[in-house]
Amino acid sequence: MNCVECGKEIVDETSSFCAYCGNPFDSKKNKSEFLGIATILLIIASTFAATLGIIGLLNYQANVAAYTTNLDYYLSIGVGEAEYMATFLGFLLFGIINVIAFIPGMIGGFLSLLKKRFRFSLISSIIVLCSSLATFIIIWYYGYGYADIVLMSEIPMLVFSFLSIFLINKSKKDFV
Ligand SMILES: [Zn+2]
Repeated sequence: MNCVECGKEIVDETSSFCAYCGNPFDSKKNKSEFLGIATILLIIASTFAATLGIIGLLNYQANVAAYTTNLDYYLSIGVGEAEYMATFLGFLLFGIINVIAFIPGMIGGFLSLLKKRFRFSLISSIIVLCSSLATFIIIWYYGYGYADIVLMSEIPMLVFSFLSIFLINKSKKDFV
């Protein structure tokens, strides 16, 4: 590492100013890098939340449409509309939950990018984590099975949001 002011090499990397010209520098540079990583992870996790939200809503809509199209068939096997809809309610549920989580997740990501609002950034990453956990539970409860596209969004969303909580919390001092 070299001094940005005079260009001389800094031997003592733990000091907070240059020994040659006295220019102050941040010796705890790594902390900001943690926050940068946390920001990226939170934004990616939020993008996956949006993906899951769209998957859930589209699946719900497709199944509702299928009922209307095959109305005679479903009535002939004795499946009423309410009963049928209840089976697919989980798609609507995790669709809405993820769309809602996407909004604070993205805002929190941009706020932590600007190093503003520590608490909001932390809470938003917790919301994204909760949303991915809720999605796991809903899919399991309704017995939909974990399709590849769901797992490809769910697993990184879970891991990334968890890591962003950890890293944002660790970078608390970097927030203004
Ligand atoms: Zn210097």
